[in-house]
Amino acid sequence: MVDLSGQHDKIRNEIDSAINQILNTTAFIKGPDVAAFESELAEYLQVKHVIGCANGTDALQLALMALDLPEGAEVITPDFTFVATAEVVRLLKLTPVLVDVDPNTFNLDIAKLKLAISDKTRVIIPVHLFGQCANMNLIMDIAKEHDLFVIEDNAQALGSDYNFQGKNVKAGTIGHIGCTSFFPSKNLGAAGDAGALFTNDDVLADKIKSIANHGQGDQYFYREIGVNSRMDTLQAAILRIKLRHLASYNEARQAAAAAYDAAFSNNPHLQIPTRAAGSTHIFHQYTLKVKNGKRDTLGKYLDEHKVPNKVYYPCPIHVHKPYAESCRFDVSQLSVSLQLSEEVISLPMHTELSEEQLSFITNTVNNFFNH
Ligand SMILES: *Cc1c(COP(=O)(O)O)cnc(C)c1O
Repeated sequence: MVDLSGQHDKIRNEIDSAINQILNTTAFIKGPDVAAFESELAEYLQVKHVIGCANGTDALQLALMALDLPEGAEVITPDFTFVATAEVVRLLKLTPVLVDVDPNTFNLDIAKLKLAISDKTRVIIPVHLFGQCANMNLIMDIAKEHDLFVIEDNAQALGSDYNFQGKNVKAGTIGHIGCTSFFPSKNLGAAGDAGALFTNDDVLADKIKSIANHGQGDQYFYREIGVNSRMDTLQAAILRIKLRHLASYNEARQAAAAAYDAAFSNNPHLQIPTRAAGSTHIFHQYTLKVKNGKRDTLGKYLDEHKVPNKVYYPCPIHVHKPYAESCRFDVSQLSVSLQLSEEVISLPMHTELSEEQLSFITNTVNNFFNH
């Protein structure tokens, strides 16, 4: 599904010397590369503050902690996504309210989102799934109207551009706080775990930094309950090198997606990814919808022919026992998430796909429907 060694081979010398330098200086925690990466990413995103942390799930947790929400406050989040978003809401004893997604973009369904707002709602966490933005123009309007916070889960769309109120901005910089993950397979991946938060709000930035560092103000003086969630210097140094390539990495993904699109757009059994209005798509995943119940047999056929494939996600959040018991949702409103979990399949998507690999993959997929 991904080819990290191919990607790293091209920048191996730079990475090796950065790692060696850190081993020599032993500045493993809060070394100078962490602050440098934070400011370089802030520059790239055109956002005031970037705060590094240990992983993307922590970023979401830190964001919610910084908002000082009352126990039982409701947080709206999509039903069709990775578990981390709903998980941190529950961990903090808040109530996730699961909302269905749009059948074409896989992002929050705005009409259903409006129906889910109650007098306990405090936060919306849109997830920019598979590499393109949720409808942030409408989400920010709704948030303003109901006085809600917006935390963008930008783990899959780092570098995507969004037309917000007529201006091009980077995904993750529109809501009150943006969160991302540098899990190795993400569009900007570390060599281990790492994550970050973005905000233009000075007060929130200060609070997030404190919470990520045990709630410390001055050293050994604690102003609130925090956690230990730091980005390693080694990861920051590697991310600094890879950040310089992020735009071209995303372009390589878009080129691979275009080749997939061209090969599948005439296949009546498949629906190629829909591009959301106002957002660029940077293809964290290339995800097809397979019609007529053939998804699982296609997956098996691809396995047999050695084409990597994966279902993101095989089961919506509300179906898993801990979430079925602890979330608020109206199951009659979640039919799209359920249907997508039966129809979607993702193909290999990374920066190193050759024309030869792409045609092997596309021919194998199309052959399945012709054999
Ligand atoms: C990867 C991911 C996360 C979690 O990031 P980690 O760094 O693995 O903790 C959260 N949300 C989404 C949508 C993700 O894809």
